[in-house]
Amino acid sequence: MAEDPKDWDIATKLIRGGLARSQYMETAEALYLTQGFTYDSAEGADRRFSGEDPGFVYSRFNNPTVKMFEDRLALLEGAEVCRAQATGMASIHMALMGLVRAGDHVVAGRALFGSCRWLIAEWLPRFGVETTFVDATDPKAWEEAIRPNTKAVLIETPSNPVLEITDIRAVSELAHAVGAKVIVDNVFATPIFQQPLKLGADIVVYSATKHIDGQGRVLGGAILTSEAINEECYRDALRHTGPSLSPFNAWVLVKGLETLDLRVRRQNDTAAALADVVADHKAVKQVLYPFRHDHPGHNVAKAQMSGGGTVLALDLGSREAAFKFLNALEIVDISNNLGDAKSMATHPPTTTHRSVPEEMRPSLGVVEGGVRLSVGLESLADLTRDVTRALDQA
Ligand SMILES: *Cc1c(COP(=O)(O)O)cnc(C)c1O
Repeated sequence: MAEDPKDWDIATKLIRGGLARSQYMETAEALYLTQGFTYDSAEGADRRFSGEDPGFVYSRFNNPTVKMFEDRLALLEGAEVCRAQATGMASIHMALMGLVRAGDHVVAGRALFGSCRWLIAEWLPRFGVETTFVDATDPKAWEEAIRPNTKAVLIETPSNPVLEITDIRAVSELAHAVGAKVIVDNVFATPIFQQPLKLGADIVVYSATKHIDGQGRVLGGAILTSEAINEECYRDALRHTGPSLSPFNAWVLVKGLETLDLRVRRQNDTAAALADVVADHKAVKQVLYPFRHDHPGHNVAKAQMSGGGTVLALDLGSREAAFKFLNALEIVDISNNLGDAKSMATHPPTTTHRSVPEEMRPSLGVVEGGVRLSVGLESLADLTRDVTRALDQA
């Protein structure tokens, strides 16, 4: 009986999915650091370009190392197609642009990663696309915002920085009723804890820079969708605009996938335990973690995710307290990245969410006492000691 990789468990998919060994039968995935490819004859080139022979022609279109990364991630996500880009923002940009034309309308949650917010608020309107932001936790708000000319809906759940939860299934039903496609930015949940395509989404996007690399090395991104949507919306646009992932970065990321399941499960368990530790500290006004009972989106999170994720949001009451906390950390780094093996903490209003106008901040949960804590792979005991000591000083 031939093994069907689609039937493998996640752990096996992450190690063996998409593996394409060369004639040398190397153990590890090969790094094809090449711009182009050669053909054994003029007829061979003709067949390759016509598509009759499905090989590679140019690394802007695809590359064997990039394809191994794409095929492995597609298998994990249960998507027909994965296309990899140079950054997460390149992926989200293309995911949106491929769906819209002048006169169309896009709806997005108001609490989004800063650059995604900019795409919706500033960039799409330049091309005659109308956009509406909604309170993404409220299905009624989506229902009121979605119109007959809505072509795309962008959901980030859990969202940045306060981990708001959107009901993917409910919003997908509303969007599909008018023929709009649903894009989910699944960075915070990771493919391990949430599979949006199974919940009704049409397109999933990742910043592979985060958990997929998970070791602070390279930038990358990916779009996952059906053959039909890829053909209609993305294939040609990707070829001709060229946001392609470098083969070197794809090689780092394909090796990152091998340990993704192990890493994020450990990070998730540590984050969940740390959330309970900090919740009891007197310096903490509020802790937000999707799998805690006091999180406002707890029920939806439990229904659509299999883990609460690797990030916590704290409110320490004031900027002064947040700064004292950050400055007192000895193990956890002050950094704006997330999903890394190294734990990192940041103050969103002065870093990642600096560009959000002051009057808009409360509705996005961007508070002066806010700290976003990305939990890494250090031991729970050491992180508990470091975070508790820093809270004592806040
Ligand atoms: C980091 C991030 C992005 C952007 O990814 P880059 O790889 O930095 O371009 C998009 N969405 C979310 C939720 C992110 O955390």
